[in-house]
Amino acid sequence: MFLDFDGTLVPLAAHPDAVTLPPRQRRLLSECHALWEGAVALVSGRHLQDLEHLTTPLPMTLVGCHGAQWRTFDGNRHALKREHHDASRIATVLGEFCDRHPGTFFEDKTYAFALHYRQAPQCQDACRDIMHRLQQAHGRHYTLSEGKCLLELRQAGCHKGRAIEALLETPPFRDRTPIFIGDDSTDEDAFPIVNAHNGISIRVGKTVGSKARYHLNSVEEVLTWLESLLSTQSR
Ligand SMILES: [Mg+2]
Repeated sequence: MFLDFDGTLVPLAAHPDAVTLPPRQRRLLSECHALWEGAVALVSGRHLQDLEHLTTPLPMTLVGCHGAQWRTFDGNRHALKREHHDASRIATVLGEFCDRHPGTFFEDKTYAFALHYRQAPQCQDACRDIMHRLQQAHGRHYTLSEGKCLLELRQAGCHKGRAIEALLETPPFRDRTPIFIGDDSTDEDAFPIVNAHNGISIRVGKTVGSKARYHLNSVEEVLTWLESLLSTQSR
């Protein structure tokens, strides 16, 4: 069971720091972990440290920064080598941009820069413009993606599909049918990998152009579906 976090397991918030893991989701993850003998992972664009903070003391596998960092089920932490391609220059440019555009903010997630405009939708075009310009300047080293009220420059080669493919080669995920649920454009990288393993790919919310085989409308539907899956499987 591979789960995206924001917008899939918990509703999106005005700021990523405002999100918590409610008791219902905490109980669900714990039950999934027990039933499938640890074969549960959160696969998120969030920093690994952030995911650990949100889910402690749950022991499941965590994948942060779209696959650049991960904590395996045995608690070991791993990370790709960070490519320092003008990271401080990008941070400076984005810092100055956010000063000029109140309501926008950016996160330096070690392997990615995310520029958010949820609280300043009027800045969408300006955000797109600055991130496209940064991508043109540093495009060999960063991939630009656009999500829900955010744009993200992430280290080239990091994506959720690659992360899930790697996990499927190792215990406790090996030789199981993968399920992946995600709600955003960066989750689209993972759906074809899950489909190629004859798995169950589920997009939450918008479905137009999605490579996912199935669809759920909301976080609430994800939670209800997981609960019914658990009750069927644990009988
Ligand atoms: Mg999401």
